Amino acid sequence: MNAPTDPLFKISFVLHGVAAAPGIAIARAQLVSHATLEVAHYDIAPEQIDDELVRFDTALATVRADFEALHERMKGDDAPAEFGAFLDVHWMILTDTQIAKEPKRLIAEQQCNAEWAVTQQMKTLVEQFEQFEDPYLRERSNDVVQVVERIVKALMGKPSELPLINPLHATALIAHDLSPADAIHFKESAFAAFVTDVGGATSHTAIVARSLGIPAVVALHNARSLIREAESLIVDGDNGLVIVNPDHQVLAEYELKQSGQRLERKKLTRLVATRAVTLDGTVIDLNANIELPTDAKGCIENGADGVGLFRSEFLFMHRDDLPTEDEQFESYRSVVVGLQGRPVTIRTFDLGADKRMPGLGDRPSDNPALGLRAIRLCLAEPKLFMTQLRAILRASAFGRLRILIPMISNAHEVTQTLAFIARAKAELVRDGIAFDNDVPVGGMVEIPAAVLSLAYFTEHLDFLSIGTNDLIQYTLAVDRTDDAVAHMYDPLHPAVLKLIAQAIRTAAKANTPIAVCGEMAGELRLTRLLLGFGLRNFSMHPAQLLTIKQRILTSSIADCEAVANRILRTDDPDKIAAALVKLNAL
Ligand code: PEP
Ligand code: MG
Repeated sequence: MNAPTDPLFKISFVLHGVAAAPGIAIARAQLVSHATLEVAHYDIAPEQIDDELVRFDTALATVRADFEALHERMKGDDAPAEFGAFLDVHWMILTDTQIAKEPKRLIAEQQCNAEWAVTQQMKTLVEQFEQFEDPYLRERSNDVVQVVERIVKALMGKPSELPLINPLHATALIAHDLSPADAIHFKESAFAAFVTDVGGATSHTAIVARSLGIPAVVALHNARSLIREAESLIVDGDNGLVIVNPDHQVLAEYELKQSGQRLERKKLTRLVATRAVTLDGTVIDLNANIELPTDAKGCIENGADGVGLFRSEFLFMHRDDLPTEDEQFESYRSVVVGLQGRPVTIRTFDLGADKRMPGLGDRPSDNPALGLRAIRLCLAEPKLFMTQLRAILRASAFGRLRILIPMISNAHEVTQTLAFIARAKAELVRDGIAFDNDVPVGGMVEIPAAVLSLAYFTEHLDFLSIGTNDLIQYTLAVDRTDDAVAHMYDPLHPAVLKLIAQAIRTAAKANTPIAVCGEMAGELRLTRLLLGFGLRNFSMHPAQLLTIKQRILTSSIADCEAVANRILRTDDPDKIAAALVKLNAL
């Protein structure tokens, strides 16, 4: 081994974060730098002012041209609409006088370089944004920083886009955080993984990584300062680890693991057209969760029986305006058409709490997860809700579509929603617009209260879907986005398991179809347990479908039921864990 004094000596260390997207990547680090941290400050002579102003204008024009090019690219089918909206915010900042003109005044008055002028102006703006009470506006300070970073990079002659990857070896992107605008580049740049200092497993960047099928680890806190450019990395998205400068032995182990995973995935593609049937002949429905209309392709490629959850709120996020009825209709229609006759379940916007949009459910609240979110917000915004319902109903004329109500907790919400749907239908009839009059309406079971009073919901709804992500949060009083209590967020807590089993039993008794669409549905170690609880419909991220299908093909319902019943009879976490291990070893 080399001595520590050797400049080539590389210390190997492991960083622990939150596993955001599964898989293993062996790659070189590529750091996305904060250009504003590197800005020099120097005086310019009075006769240089004009040149400096031209330099600033040229940089601004370069960044504008980049944005226009990005906009152009986004007109294609591939780019999600939410990214467009996000770019619009950046465009507004870029063209605002505060950024486009004020730095020029500073250059002239303070006789300073353009980089310094624009970063000074950025600091002033960020301070102003941070004074806002409105959390959405407060967050826009990040957008100001991102725009200024692009201008500074252009001034310094650096490419304003994310660097292109080196085609000779896989590249992992290391960033403090990534904006959706940056994430667009993932689509074209084929990064092998990404690693961020901030964010949670449900952050947008994590969602993008999952939809791209690349491993990601987030919430590493210091990755950007500890990892150096081009250092060798293993990004273990299964365990939330980043191994920096792995030694030969570790590298060899991971290479083996990685090739094993690749082989496994390749083998799994043989199952795309195979029906998911257990050893004892029970057919299981395997559906996909999607966030963006462009995800529809992945559903077909992974053999999904349909879309079990389309998180429509992503169409509303990262933009200042609301998506119009036509815009929403086009999004829903494209998914329904893309699914080629398979059912598509569109959840009405689940905004509020961590999923915000300006002016909607983003008022300051001490407990936003318990506040005006999901169906509560839909009902509190009748105009917006009607617009969405009309768009969904219009799309129902193009295939098999179902409406899903998020986070139901009481009877009134269901009654009111059904009344809204009836009104939207009446309007469409009046306007002579086609729709499916029998479109099924379901509810998401995400609150213990909904499980405990499920019989009512089975009488008034056509189907149900258990959102385990929120059900765990609300049962255990553990904020699903808070790192500090992440260790208590336990899908195997006996209370959670009892609630899930009870919901499935109650729905079965009432003959109401029920699915699980939370992350638990895509967790391999839980597949047999859920089958044992009586679950026959799973909805998960498309990339996970074939893995779960394979497990179903080798499972016997009788065995699963026997162990599941034993698990339900104990409150001892060790016994639950041991029984689960045995069940999965069968
Ligand atoms: C859930 O809560 O389990 C769910 C599927 O909804 P979301 O993760 O979007 O809150
Ligand atoms: Mg939920």
